[in-house]
Amino acid sequence: MSDVIFGPVNSRRFGKSLGIDLSPALKQCNFDCVYCELKGAKPVNNMQEVVSVQLVIDSLKSALVKHNDIDVITLTANGEPTLYPYLDELVREINKIKQNYKLLILSNGASIIDENIQKTLANIDIVKLSLDCASVKCFKKIDRPHKDINIDNIINSMKQFSKSYKGSLIIEVLAVEGINDKDEEFEKLNLVLNDIKPARVDISTIDRPPAYKVKKVSMERLEELANKIKSLHVSIAYRKDYHGKKENFSDDEILNLISKRPQSIDDINMSFNDETKIRFRKLLAEKQIIEENIAGAMFYTKNLKGE
Ligand code: SF4
Repeated sequence: MSDVIFGPVNSRRFGKSLGIDLSPALKQCNFDCVYCELKGAKPVNNMQEVVSVQLVIDSLKSALVKHNDIDVITLTANGEPTLYPYLDELVREINKIKQNYKLLILSNGASIIDENIQKTLANIDIVKLSLDCASVKCFKKIDRPHKDINIDNIINSMKQFSKSYKGSLIIEVLAVEGINDKDEEFEKLNLVLNDIKPARVDISTIDRPPAYKVKKVSMERLEELANKIKSLHVSIAYRKDYHGKKENFSDDEILNLISKRPQSIDDINMSFNDETKIRFRKLLAEKQIIEENIAGAMFYTKNLKGE
């Protein structure tokens, strides 16, 4: 198997994923994010080293024979997968052989301004785009984009794409201490995200050594920031060693919390004590709470239909 295929890896948010790396030899990205897990590199707006569609498809076919218990096939790159020049052809070829698995792409979101990219993404089951800041200054500081990239155009294109896209659109926000971790930034993001209306918002912080000298935010602060995002399905990436503060909620308090914003299974495990979990399961059995799978992550909402 060539190094364009990696995994499968288990991800809490998407399930078991077989990865395709569209830039296996070097970083090719139109951003140079401060938090990147790869070494810092000057942003580019096209790929210089390009693997062939045939190589990717042949490698994927052999990997699928070996790994037949996955949930998703994930298009990614050491850099930005939408810079891959044959992405449209590749997506069409993958769709022919992907069986019942979902196709997912992890993109930084900048190429969404290109209508041809939007047409290609429309053929992908789950599209995850990043949006770390909604304001120009903050965006430039955290994502260090190629000079031609403008955050207002990206946001407008995300809104446009979301209206017609039939799959699951996920927006990921990564919080960095001292850059986008201010209340005002998340309040702006809340307004923009409620216009884009993604199926899910994934909120995380730095997890691995970053390209530049920046720091993660604490889990407590990440929860506060996530609470600024109203009405949408928000998935917080909790650190494995974080145990949260376990609360004791009555039935009404559980329903009130869940009606303000859907709670993920991780939120429930993190913040409900054992007695509250029993009450929660009872409300679920009585169908006062309903369960939803949002692109591979379980969420719980108040049943407004009362059925
Ligand atoms: S978009 Fe991804 S690959 Fe590109 S610099 Fe940012 S974190 Fe790194």
